[in-house]
Amino acid sequence: MQKLETAIRTIPDFPKPGVQFKDITPLLADGYLFRQAIDAFATRHADSGIDKVVGIEARGFVFASAVAYALGTGTCLVRKPGKLPHAVHRQTYDLEYGTDAVEIHTDAFEPGQKILIIDDVLATGGTVAATVELIQNNFDANIVELDFLIELAFLNGREKLEGSLIHALITY
Ligand code: AMP
Repeated sequence: MQKLETAIRTIPDFPKPGVQFKDITPLLADGYLFRQAIDAFATRHADSGIDKVVGIEARGFVFASAVAYALGTGTCLVRKPGKLPHAVHRQTYDLEYGTDAVEIHTDAFEPGQKILIIDDVLATGGTVAATVELIQNNFDANIVELDFLIELAFLNGREKLEGSLIHALITY
């Protein structure tokens, strides 16, 4: 996936000092590379029997919806608080300073469904760990894998995700 890597730029000190932000917009803007990324996820899960692809707000939506289309499954939005219109389940999680939360509609899945979760970047793992908890605590669903365009391995996000299968197209 070296080609994909060339279309990701690092923006220093965004959105705050010390963060090396991975800007994926050049990759999204390139039709060939965007398709490469989506095909990589979709090919990997062609025989996984996935029922729903979950996208995490906001860039996760871009990948999850395209992969769902490729697999012919539904997609489902995990959002920050107050954005989903119907009844929700909520999971809070700790940030460096304070807490945040993710929400999902209470009717997101049928019992026994197989779920693929996708986000753009695995950093500290807090957001996706909360998403896994949100789903496991509220649904009888089977999370097949957690997939990312990028894993920032030096932040050790995997430590928060023990017991989950994880796959990233690009690792830093
Ligand atoms: P985390 O909970 O730390 O794994 O980070 C979760 C979310 O923050 C991911 O969905 C990313 O969209 C975003 N994020 C965190 N760190 C970065 C980074 N260095 N570059 C781009 N996005 C990031």
